[in-house]
Amino acid sequence: MSIHHLNSQDTIIALATPQGIGAIAVIRLSGKGCVELVNKVFKGKDLTKQEANTIHFGTIRDGEKILDEVLISLFKAPHSFTKEDSIEISCHGSQYIVKQIIQLLIREGARPAQAGEFTKRAFMNGQFDLAQAEAVADLIHSDSESSHQAALNQMRGGFSNEIKQLREQLINFASLIELELDFGEEDVEFADRDDLKQLVDKLLYVINKLIKSFDLGNVIKNGIPTVIAGKPNAGKSTLLNALLNEEKAIVSDIAGTTRDFIEDELHIEGVTFRFIDTAGLRQTDDKVEAIGVERTQAKMKEASLIIYLFDLITDNITEILQEVNRLENLGKPFIPVGNKIDEADPKIIDELKANDHNWMFISADKQINIEDLKEELIRKVNLPDFKVGDTIVTNVRHYESLLKTKESLDDVLNGLGMNITGDFLAMDIRQALHHLGEITGEISTDDLLGNIFSNFCIGK
Ligand code: GDP
Repeated sequence: MSIHHLNSQDTIIALATPQGIGAIAVIRLSGKGCVELVNKVFKGKDLTKQEANTIHFGTIRDGEKILDEVLISLFKAPHSFTKEDSIEISCHGSQYIVKQIIQLLIREGARPAQAGEFTKRAFMNGQFDLAQAEAVADLIHSDSESSHQAALNQMRGGFSNEIKQLREQLINFASLIELELDFGEEDVEFADRDDLKQLVDKLLYVINKLIKSFDLGNVIKNGIPTVIAGKPNAGKSTLLNALLNEEKAIVSDIAGTTRDFIEDELHIEGVTFRFIDTAGLRQTDDKVEAIGVERTQAKMKEASLIIYLFDLITDNITEILQEVNRLENLGKPFIPVGNKIDEADPKIIDELKANDHNWMFISADKQINIEDLKEELIRKVNLPDFKVGDTIVTNVRHYESLLKTKESLDDVLNGLGMNITGDFLAMDIRQALHHLGEITGEISTDDLLGNIFSNFCIGK
């Protein structure tokens, strides 16, 4: 949807709180005339005569019929989220009431908001740049402490400021080179090539750091895909339950009854582990199960971390050591965990300890050493230091623009090395500027904007 199809003058309306029953619900309106519009159905003070940033009690009426007692929060341009006149109606959280009020206000002239339209207006009116607007979406969807921190930091401009500064420095050089081109035949060099090389090196350093941060950003946003691998009856489901501390997986004495992959999340110190339950490792000669095994192998490939769980009562040591070797060759972080320590022969544990691995011994069932295992999980993922305030790229679109920026900057460097002429150099610099601009929205096409904002929910 092109932004030109949206009239930014009209008043838009949407429910801002989640659908469903709650103590209260908040209906949001934004746009010139929204105060007059709500005033027509509001009985209480005359809203058009009230100060900005005030709250007013009264009733919403459809003719003589009272729909609800409400609180009206009044915001006036430019001091609102959208930088337009805005109103938030806090009513009782019944879907019926919400629907009645929204329908009434639409009859009076409001228009249902499109997905993300409030945020889009905020962006169009200069409340923040594109990267920040996207961070609003991330913030709303963040469910762990660190994803919340990363989104909050980005929304407050940390990420964008860094990009903007880089871009400005590069623009300076671009204009110096363009100036050289204006002089045409004359052999002038306003843009010192050594200085330019230095700047590009510095830029590449920062860009590469941002590109690398994407891995971490990705972890923060999506969690670490973790697999619990092990033979049938090793206690995988029991362990999953112990870790998650609730009965999310089906525990069963019968091997092979774990349903398909159950994905569950565990938050440790602000890091999300996304568990992929491995039904398929319960290999039997059953045909259906065989498919499960193939899928488990695939899941192992997808995983960033593997917990290898074995049974201290029944598994033999040679087999365990073989499995550990195989996992080592896989090259992924893994934790070898012996289960059922409550009933295990201490000799087995000593024998295993003679082999140099970071063994963990637990009882999933009796919940012994589960906290230790959680600590080991955090140690294993070995996250690069992430301090609050660090710039972390969590957005695929930004990541792709950064990769393209890097490509263009590499071209600039190569060009400098080969002493290419100013016009070619200027072209590569312009490319890099273009991709950097894509991130903060200085360069944005209608398509791109439409794409980003339509990913928001209505009411945002
Ligand atoms: P899975 O097939 O690997 O998912 O194994 P389950 O979680 O279904 O467990 C298999 C059996 O081992 C069940 O009977 C569990 O009660 C039992 N089990 C799991 N953990 C322990 C433990 O720490 N100690 C003992 N003694 N038994 C356990």
